[in-house]
Amino acid sequence: MKQPIAVPQDYRCPLCVNHVDEVFYASILIDQPICEGCQEELFLFEHHKERPADQLIEKMEQLTGLTWDDCRVVLLRDTLETWRTIEHELPQEYLDSVAELGWTQDRAALEAQSKVLWYAQLVEQAETESLPKKTG
Ligand SMILES: [Zn+2]
Repeated sequence: MKQPIAVPQDYRCPLCVNHVDEVFYASILIDQPICEGCQEELFLFEHHKERPADQLIEKMEQLTGLTWDDCRVVLLRDTLETWRTIEHELPQEYLDSVAELGWTQDRAALEAQSKVLWYAQLVEQAETESLPKKTG
């Protein structure tokens, strides 16, 4: 699971430079750490089939030089990898988080398995959608 990373004291998130943030994560798309808020928003957006009209997405396209469809494939692959790791390692952090829901370890393992299948499917769909634009 993703852990926050340390940044210099006056560091600003490259996706939302106009305000100060406290918690930052490494980005899979750009070399600079991004803030928790942007990270969470991107996570929500990667589940949208259609490109949401949002400044954050425009900014990400500018910074990466990629289309949102391509960014989305990268983000979804990363989420899939995260779930694969959870499925294999069943980290305590994950077990603790689902223990609050009253889940047993078996239930948690099943859920991780189904997330892997679900994200594998999303990755496949997103790849098919982003490819034609690249070649055509
Ligand atoms: Zn941000």
